[in-house]
Amino acid sequence: MRSIRDIYKIGKGPSSSHTMGPAFCAEQFQEEHPEADSFRAILYGSLSKTGKGHGTDRVLVDTFAPKAVEVVFSDTDPANMKHPNTLDLVAFKDGNEIARQRYESIGGGDIVVEGRRRKVVEDDDVYMENSFAEIKQFCTFRYVDLVQYIELSEGKEIWDFLKTVWEAMQNEIHEGLSREGMLPGPLHVHRKAKFLHEQVPQNKHAELVESQLVCSYAYACSEQNADNGIIVTAPTCGSCGVLPAVLYYLKDKRKLTDDQIVRCLGVAGLFGELAKRNASVSGAECGCQAEVGVACSMAAAAAGQAFGYTIDQIEYAAEVALEHHLGLTCDPICGLVQIPCIERNAVAAMRALNAANIAFFLTGTRNISYDMVLKSMYYTGLDMNQRYRETSEGGLAKAYSRKG
Ligand code: SF4
Repeated sequence: MRSIRDIYKIGKGPSSSHTMGPAFCAEQFQEEHPEADSFRAILYGSLSKTGKGHGTDRVLVDTFAPKAVEVVFSDTDPANMKHPNTLDLVAFKDGNEIARQRYESIGGGDIVVEGRRRKVVEDDDVYMENSFAEIKQFCTFRYVDLVQYIELSEGKEIWDFLKTVWEAMQNEIHEGLSREGMLPGPLHVHRKAKFLHEQVPQNKHAELVESQLVCSYAYACSEQNADNGIIVTAPTCGSCGVLPAVLYYLKDKRKLTDDQIVRCLGVAGLFGELAKRNASVSGAECGCQAEVGVACSMAAAAAGQAFGYTIDQIEYAAEVALEHHLGLTCDPICGLVQIPCIERNAVAAMRALNAANIAFFLTGTRNISYDMVLKSMYYTGLDMNQRYRETSEGGLAKAYSRKG
């Protein structure tokens, strides 16, 4: 399994597959063809259907600048298209085509070039284990916990990397809580994080304060993402609010130090990386269960680590969190990462805490493993009608346009 560095990428929202991935493709293609004087980008599948709302054209224009790029939203997909997020980049010199390359943006900012995964951070596996069952077996035989396992595999430097990630996550929360006004796009969605957070002192119902705080943090991150702000993928841009919201809340509630938080991020990263390796974190490939569902499992595992759970309890928390997102579709209205995405991050953050609680109440009673639920998520996603996989052609996206 690859390094957990691979999960957390700091960059501009709103979409790891529709903005970050295509930007990486364009950077790489341009580097390989410095002699080109103009480019064409042909977008297929989900990139074509929701690329406008997600801002794929804008990010391509920005990345190729000052050179010109023509962005084509193709009506037809190539017969041999392997992934729903596929694009062709074409380079021109004096009006003549000099190079052409096909890419796939496979989620979480990762791209594939001609069947080869791009070296985003590290291509080589740093973990020998490729399933949670194998990780658990290793830890049991070596008498180590998940934090020690991560350090053994990644080296001590991983904690410095995760400190940077945590700083970026806190910045997105602080920034999101300070902003007001409308998010970009035709939906005229108002930012709500600041409002939610300001209501907390007036909330007379102590039992609701936790939800209100967690929601405000999740909204802060997801609104920053929707507004093209700097965020951290966890595991994607669209699902970036779940994990930081839970950790930011627990930081105050449980008086956690930054060192403790980065260890929670490490444990969450293991579950996210397993999802990437053995299933998918792409809404275009497997629906929102692969984005917000996986984010919820990462956050539940992080909460388990924060609560001092055993390996088995942490796995249980992550498993419960993902199991109850199985079948969740991706249907962003107008192709924008706003409705249902922002609210969904807040709901998933609250769910992550509930999943961690269930894992504690019912320790040792479960029948389903994390590996099992990942496999189910993947096959459910592949079986899902294409309309529900980031095309904005089904679900809420369709109901909303009918209303209009
Ligand atoms: S519905 Fe879920 S998967 Fe789809 S764009 Fe929104 S957050 Fe991403």
